[in-house]
Amino acid sequence: MVWSLILSFCVISCGTVDEKETKWKYDVETEDLERYVEEFERLSVGRNEKHVTALVVKFADLEDPVTGLCELYTKQSPVISIDRSYWAGADDAERENLMFHELGHCVLRRGHLETRKDLKPVSIMFPSLIPFHYKGDRVGYVNELFSIEGDWFRLRDEDVTFICGENHGI
Ligand SMILES: [Zn+2]
Repeated sequence: MVWSLILSFCVISCGTVDEKETKWKYDVETEDLERYVEEFERLSVGRNEKHVTALVVKFADLEDPVTGLCELYTKQSPVISIDRSYWAGADDAERENLMFHELGHCVLRRGHLETRKDLKPVSIMFPSLIPFHYKGDRVGYVNELFSIEGDWFRLRDEDVTFICGENHGI
């Protein structure tokens, strides 16, 4: 946040800024959102060690049942949009489920995974939120989240948006 303010100031007052700095920026809208990015980084230690440096996270008014979006770009920072009204009504685990799912797309570059085992989704990357299951097996889902990387992005070279939502039947 501080860095982006400095950068904005510089764009206005200095005239020229290295193009790379404006494209690959880190800007998380609120501390409320940032604590989940920090928790994601903390949990990555001893797994696949993620230090997030290029990411934009912001609130948006998304159409029900969409709760989050991840826009992945090949030439600029990925952008996560979090639905304002879902966030307002969500508890800590529900917020973490949503943020870790979007970070799975935007940082780990994972796609959706629809696989279930005994009806239970095997991954937090299931296309819809799975708060009931996530609350019952947080460690298992965190282990699975960090166990796979780049299953989607590695194979492609184009911008894409992941649309993720609620499914009350899950
Ligand atoms: Zn998704």
